[in-house]
Amino acid sequence: MGKRYLLAPGPTPVPSEVLLAMAAPIIHHRSPDFLPVLDSAKKGLQWLYQTKNDVLILCSTGTGGMVGSVNNFFNKGDKVLVINGGKFGERWTKICQAYGLDVEEIVVEWGYSVKPEEVENKLKKNRNIKGVFVQASETSTGVYHDIQALGSIVKKYDDTLFIVDAISALVAHDLRTDEWGIDIMVGGSQKGVMLPPGIAFVSVSDKAWAKAETSKLPKFYFNFKKERENLAKNQTNFTSPVTLIIGLNESLRMLQAEGLENVFKRHAKLADATRQAVKALGLELYPRESPSNAVTAIVAPQGIDGQAIYKNLREKYGITAAGGQDKAKGKVFRIAHLGYSDRFDIITAIAGIEMVLKGMGYPVKLGTGVAVAEELLMVSEEAK
Ligand SMILES: *Cc1c(COP(=O)(O)O)cnc(C)c1O
Repeated sequence: MGKRYLLAPGPTPVPSEVLLAMAAPIIHHRSPDFLPVLDSAKKGLQWLYQTKNDVLILCSTGTGGMVGSVNNFFNKGDKVLVINGGKFGERWTKICQAYGLDVEEIVVEWGYSVKPEEVENKLKKNRNIKGVFVQASETSTGVYHDIQALGSIVKKYDDTLFIVDAISALVAHDLRTDEWGIDIMVGGSQKGVMLPPGIAFVSVSDKAWAKAETSKLPKFYFNFKKERENLAKNQTNFTSPVTLIIGLNESLRMLQAEGLENVFKRHAKLADATRQAVKALGLELYPRESPSNAVTAIVAPQGIDGQAIYKNLREKYGITAAGGQDKAKGKVFRIAHLGYSDRFDIITAIAGIEMVLKGMGYPVKLGTGVAVAEELLMVSEEAK
């Protein structure tokens, strides 16, 4: 028997409650049975997004939500600013370029978080920038960008939209859509919301809807105005991913029972315990600043291949984590603490890392990192 542990930054584990909910018979997406299901999901997403804006539900992966965030609000030749601090920042650039936008990048060294002043300077210098694109959590580097600070800057420019890829940050980080002035925020089902892959969520502000009126880029599948009209009737434009939306209601119910603040606290605590435990093993974190609460990227020790660590975790111990992407490939490995994650996931991960590293000849005293994680994750008040 090989028991498997999924500790990757997406897909993430799905709770049994959600799996069971999704075992219900299929209902028809235009039937009266489905309307309250979508209504509940729609309201639950507004709660999770901390917004009064529409949150569209799309049958696609997160990247589909990113594509729709470009082709529904801009025009060919529009100048936009992309914060590119990793693999997913680069994806914003590629999508924008695919639609003929004029992309200016702020290239952020991998492992660092963008300096909000840099964004402010660009916007001051170029009054023509129509949109600022960023990741909340850049999953490839494990860095969190300061969305609140960026939002307060972009907010001052009436003609500029603030577009956030929160695909891995949603649920792991407190992201206040309305309060922070996030015009468009993209989420995905297979990360923090504890669902299988297959749906994307996109919130759209009034400022962004006004822009949609003048956008002439081609749209067919990702047509947000049509999605909005359908959402108002508790429908989606095409066939709804009925099963996933039923599952979404269950995962939203679980998150609501925990409470949003507790959800964020849990992620912060698990992330902190992971970082401290890894440091206790003499390992270095890949982020030089502002680490994400969704995923921890760890630098492979000198002379040890990060891909081999990741591979050994999976093949020898049944733990699926993640390796590095692109230029971080071989240099790092990544452990997620995202969604349906608790203290024993962290302890499992740290124990696995210790055993793998020892097996690969890295000097580690078994239990060193686990002890640190246990200290930080103990329940403080036990019955005597
Ligand atoms: C996972 C992820 C994506 C891509 O999502 P898909 O569902 O694979 O399309 C985009 N951005 C970030 C930050 C992610 O973590």
